Amino acid sequence: AADTVEDAEDTLQPRAPVVTIMGHVDHGKTSLLDALRGTDVVRGEAGGITQHIGAYQVTLKDKSKITFLDTPGHEAFSEMRARGANVTDIVVLVVAANDGLMPQTIEAINHTKAAGVPMIVAINKVDLDSANPQRVRQRLLEHEVMVEEMGGEVQDVEVSALKKTGLDQLIEKIQLQAELLELRANPNREAEGTVIEAKLDKGRGPVATVLVNRGTLKVGDVFVVGAESGKIRALVDDKGRQIKEAGPAMPVEILGLSGVPMAGDPLQVVENEARAREVAEYRAGVIQNKRTTNAPA
Ligand code: GDP
Repeated sequence: AADTVEDAEDTLQPRAPVVTIMGHVDHGKTSLLDALRGTDVVRGEAGGITQHIGAYQVTLKDKSKITFLDTPGHEAFSEMRARGANVTDIVVLVVAANDGLMPQTIEAINHTKAAGVPMIVAINKVDLDSANPQRVRQRLLEHEVMVEEMGGEVQDVEVSALKKTGLDQLIEKIQLQAELLELRANPNREAEGTVIEAKLDKGRGPVATVLVNRGTLKVGDVFVVGAESGKIRALVDDKGRQIKEAGPAMPVEILGLSGVPMAGDPLQVVENEARAREVAEYRAGVIQNKRTTNAPA
């Protein structure tokens, strides 16, 4: 299929890393996502309203960008992976320094290892008197996560999402890890992406947040996504602004869908509407078949 063809080496350009934050409930995933969102230098000047579209991108002082999946929780991660969508480049594991390793922390470590995604440990809540970051590092060792201080290669950083300390260091470590990964994509081709989340909006109809994997998605593009198809009527970024196009690693809300796709569904731009319907119908058939085959007797 066309979507398995690799882009030629000389078409590849650096792209932003895509980061997922995982960790035990109440260890501060949401707080950290909110704090990191605040590091965006564009947000203020745009004057836009914060839109929760399942992912957001921050532009840093040096103009580089990082994309964060704003869907804390392991279900989204495992669900997408189970569907063959490996969109995450880096996992930030949040561990509360007072609580230490908890069942979902260990679950997150296992998911990350299974996915073969590099991890950065953010030891959160270091503002608390009861914080014990060193104990966290020791406990991590028991789960074969060896941070640098313990002689390993996993980067760790002490943060407080509440007091907003350690954020710059965390960002530096993400950037360092991203450099090692040499993340690149061809922006000059028809777009391919992955659905991060989708819903039926009362006013706007079916809406999906898509992370562009390669190519550039443009208003007017005809596409297939899962068993649905459509033509891009509007693109809305995470600041609520209507934009004309979205390149690699950029999350964007798309309007103009025939129906609501599923998280993890691949999106592919095709040459025309007839082709889009053909592919969508074929896919719907395959999906139907799978359901019938997998149905309990
Ligand atoms: P999540 O369930 O992992 O998304 O955790 P939340 O972000 O909802 O945080 C859970 C609780 O911990 C909330 O009451 C937060 O205010 C608190 N919290 C988060 N980060 C910090 C921190 O750095 N220091 C302190 N003291 N509390 C924090």
